[in-house]
Amino acid sequence: MSFVSLGLSDFFTSTLSSLGYKEPTAIQDKAIPAVLKGHDLIAAAETGSGKTAGFVLPLLEKLHSIPAPGNNLTHALVLVPTRELAVQVSQSVDRYSENCPRKIRSVAIYGGAAINPQMQSLSKGCDIVVATPGRLLDLMRKNALDLRGLKALVLDEADRMLDLGFADELDDILDQTPGNVQTLLFSATFPDKVKELTEELLRNPVEISV
Ligand code: AMP
Repeated sequence: MSFVSLGLSDFFTSTLSSLGYKEPTAIQDKAIPAVLKGHDLIAAAETGSGKTAGFVLPLLEKLHSIPAPGNNLTHALVLVPTRELAVQVSQSVDRYSENCPRKIRSVAIYGGAAINPQMQSLSKGCDIVVATPGRLLDLMRKNALDLRGLKALVLDEADRMLDLGFADELDDILDQTPGNVQTLLFSATFPDKVKELTEELLRNPVEISV
């Protein structure tokens, strides 16, 4: 399989070649077409599997052809357990969208850093917000982020988010997301609490394990 045959535009596939990605990893092979078709997704995937590109690339493919979101709005929200992962995923968005015809705006939102610059970044509108749950909720309470136009929601490393005690924050955030959002959940393990979350959130999901 090649990235072209998975349904990604030339400017993405040429960026991937220039990054030295010769072919999709197993998870990308399965996740990219499913997300492009609009399915919800449950993926059992570890760090190192290429899972980040597995959700970022199809989201970029879907988002680049629609207009940039207006003030405080975002089209896609990626929830992650840690600041490090927030920065890493947001850098992946920037890297993969480098040659995109429309500039893709992404922002990393996490605690332990000044809140005002994050509020300012959100105020311009973002295609993709990558956030840890606690700080995101603080910003939502300040009306810094409007989820009404949300089209896609990703829970990355769902098991770690729950292990770190973010269950209540996740509930609060999920309560405020629109009902018709395409939802993707990635987790290395599936203990009962992750299974409950998938049952609550996902509609007829495609299930992938690699
Ligand atoms: P992840 O599992 O998303 O943390 O990705 C692990 C590493 O694999 C990252 O450094 C990516 O840049 C790299 N990577 C992801 N997809 C590919 C691919 N198809 N070919 C080569 N490297 C990749």
